[in-house]
Amino acid sequence: MNDNVHLGHRARKRFGQNFLNDDMIIDKIVTAIDPKPGDNLVEIGPGLGAITEPVAELSGHLTVVELDKDLAERLIHHPFLGPKLTVNQGDAMKFDFSSLIKDDKKLKIFGNLPYNVSTPLLFHLFEFVDNVEHMHFMLQKEVVNRMVASPGSKAFGRLSVMTQYYCHAMPVIEVPPTCFKPAPKVDSAVVRLIPKDPSARTAKSTKMLNTVCLEAFNQRRKTLRNSLSNLLTEAELAELGVDATLRAENISLTQFIAIANYLHDRQP
Ligand code: SAM
Repeated sequence: MNDNVHLGHRARKRFGQNFLNDDMIIDKIVTAIDPKPGDNLVEIGPGLGAITEPVAELSGHLTVVELDKDLAERLIHHPFLGPKLTVNQGDAMKFDFSSLIKDDKKLKIFGNLPYNVSTPLLFHLFEFVDNVEHMHFMLQKEVVNRMVASPGSKAFGRLSVMTQYYCHAMPVIEVPPTCFKPAPKVDSAVVRLIPKDPSARTAKSTKMLNTVCLEAFNQRRKTLRNSLSNLLTEAELAELGVDATLRAENISLTQFIAIANYLHDRQP
């Protein structure tokens, strides 16, 4: 049997389609999301409905955003699931998630994300954290490792700093390739993201924080004295309490924020 065809649908590689096909893992994911009637639930990339169905069963309703027109149509016309869904056919990276806020109910967002666009999609979602109660995403395990990495580890990079700036992040489930159809070449994991209180997010400009991360990690083996030389001097770093002889992977989120805020204030 063709491994790329699942429930009568040929998986489209360009849409990152690897469908979950393991009831035990689906159960664990649904338990982590903990859907309840009245929740404002949003799924990104529902696909053939592997997680959608049990979540809709428990909550009664959810909103989905699916890029693949055929899959969106299939969900709309699904005899049992269709009436429980609000289907948005389109690109989640362009979707305005704040438009889904009703009666002040924050969003519980989840999805087995298309791995080919997971980082830009996460960055897009971070823009809406004030509208979010929690998020659960299946991602490449290596991406989850980077999201939760601490300073001093090789996995610590821009994705760690930006994720941990916006959210508390913790890995919750590990998922081997055999749980999907077609099986991806990599291991996967589910990460739970709980937005931090706005008072903990002290960057004056997240754009500047991102710029500092890009520069600092662009050549991660260089010391900050060299990697950040386009932005500020060694003396300025010292004034901020940052040792310029360290590499980017060895300074904390707080120090990244301090550098970004200094540069923001120094702007003409
Ligand atoms: N949730 C299903 C499951 O677990 O079996 C499918 C997961 S599959 C890894 C990713 C899903 O995201 C596919 O249905 C794909 O069509 C959809 N998708 C890909 N890119 C997308 C995008 N930019 N916006 C919304 N959905 C997207």
